[in-house]
Amino acid sequence: MAFTIHGLPVSQGIAIGHVHLVSHALLEVNHYHVAARYIDEEVARLEDAVATVQGELVGLKAAATAGHAHSEVGAFVDLQTMMLADPMLVDAARTLIEDRRCNAEWALVQQMEHLVEQFEQIEDPYLRERKADVVQVVERIVKVLLGHPGHLPPKRRDGLGTVVVAHDLSPADTIGFRDHNIAGFVTDVGGPTSHTAIVARSLSIPAVVGLLHIRHLVEEDEVIIIDGSRGVVIVGPDPQIIEEYRLRRAELELERSKLNRLKDTRATTLDGEEVMLLANIEGPKDIGQIRAVNADGVGLYRTEFLFIGRDTLPDEDEQYEAYRDVLTAMAGKPVTIRTFDVGADKALNTTEARFEPNPALGLRAVRYSLAEPQMFLTQLRALLRASVHGQLKIMVPMLAHATEIDQTLRLIDKARAELRSEHVRFDESIEIGAMIEVPAAALALGMFIRRLSFLSIGTNDLIQYTLAIDRSDEAVVHLYDPLHPAVLKLIGGTIQAGARFGMPVSVCGEMAGDPAYTLLLLGMGLRQFSMHPANILEIKQQVLRADVGELAPRVQRILRMDEQAKVREAVLRLAG
Ligand code: PEP
Ligand code: MG
Repeated sequence: MAFTIHGLPVSQGIAIGHVHLVSHALLEVNHYHVAARYIDEEVARLEDAVATVQGELVGLKAAATAGHAHSEVGAFVDLQTMMLADPMLVDAARTLIEDRRCNAEWALVQQMEHLVEQFEQIEDPYLRERKADVVQVVERIVKVLLGHPGHLPPKRRDGLGTVVVAHDLSPADTIGFRDHNIAGFVTDVGGPTSHTAIVARSLSIPAVVGLLHIRHLVEEDEVIIIDGSRGVVIVGPDPQIIEEYRLRRAELELERSKLNRLKDTRATTLDGEEVMLLANIEGPKDIGQIRAVNADGVGLYRTEFLFIGRDTLPDEDEQYEAYRDVLTAMAGKPVTIRTFDVGADKALNTTEARFEPNPALGLRAVRYSLAEPQMFLTQLRALLRASVHGQLKIMVPMLAHATEIDQTLRLIDKARAELRSEHVRFDESIEIGAMIEVPAAALALGMFIRRLSFLSIGTNDLIQYTLAIDRSDEAVVHLYDPLHPAVLKLIGGTIQAGARFGMPVSVCGEMAGDPAYTLLLLGMGLRQFSMHPANILEIKQQVLRADVGELAPRVQRILRMDEQAKVREAVLRLAG
């Protein structure tokens, strides 16, 4: 009988196939003591297995470099190669064999558990997740030791693919799926930010994780459907359900291939208006995604992610390198780097916790930077130094007062003067701009326009502060409404003021990446949208279908409305 299980959707699409159960090698490890006379042999067994895995990783790296996988895949393989060479893993396991006479598998698993425990103490979620890489490397060695070097299932002939069902999977295993007709995978554990999920998305393999006990609920070879968009898994579906999902899959595939074809198309409206579609990123690791959609540049680089969750601040050189890498990769396309937006929900580990009665209204963003001028100056110096590697623009978050703008500009001048006296080169004509994300800023644009070179509307905060609702509090989330007439007046007014004074204006909040608002923003006059790279092609599709000459007067009428329901209705009609 068919049954359905729900998990976490981590990679979109629909897969229909036969179950292939992949066992969890580590659960099958034997524990025994080796006789003293066989210790050398056991150590040699470990070393041979390590050498075999080293070879496997070299092969995987070559496949990634040859362009058969996402660029990040090469990085995972490098990370696992590094762990394999780390004395904390193999040398420590060797010592356990020699001193305690443990068999090689047991020695490895003991040392792995010890390392995983240490990773679990780390607060930074990215580094904490790297414990999965340790487990995966050990799993590879154990597989070799057990005499089961990773083998993949044969190709099927009945038209249905193979769906891998496992407790957990490594990114390296996932790369191998490409050549083996693997339709998708489901796992007991895992999260949306795991490397395996990232690889699955980059290879467009549907996947659902976090299913808890799926491995014990299915049998080898039975038919299974994965809906990677909704996180649903159907085990043992009848032919009618299979047919229904085949149809859905065909529709989705058609949509996706159409979108990919837009990658190199200019985003121009029907009446010839050019639109820039820029990417929001958190660091150099996002470069691959930007390239995949051929973004026009970076519209928002959230630099605070460089040090949130760590115990030390990145020094000037480390920051310089992170900025330089993105500028170099973008090869002359504009890169807007935002100065640190710390505080509120993005607190630093490095400073002592201070009681804040209302963090979103407290020492946040530029207020924090100005209260820590040395930290701010270090960042400004790193930014200026990086400016020689491309077209860098500096953007400052949450400005609301003329004095804040002036203080910031004075600090930038100080950083310039220091670098000049040290004979360090930087771009003398670098543009400085502001985020418009506080209603006060949107209502007093003159002070920004007189002093700065560009504006970018942060709709996430602008909505939060206009409507007085905490954007992270689910109790008031139903009141978070981008179509509130007050919000639209502030956005529309900012875009219009920019056009009047020849000041470039972009939107970099979530509204820019939501196709429900594209026509509205185009009709307001917006020509620069910055969003998560994954949304760029969908927004481009909206732009290509738009006629801004026809939209503009209709949107002007929407901006005069003062009832949310009417606004909503009129915005829906823009697409009709
Ligand atoms: C915004 O507020 O819209 C924005 C882009 O900044 P963040 O989401 O980082 O606060
Ligand atoms: Mg913001």
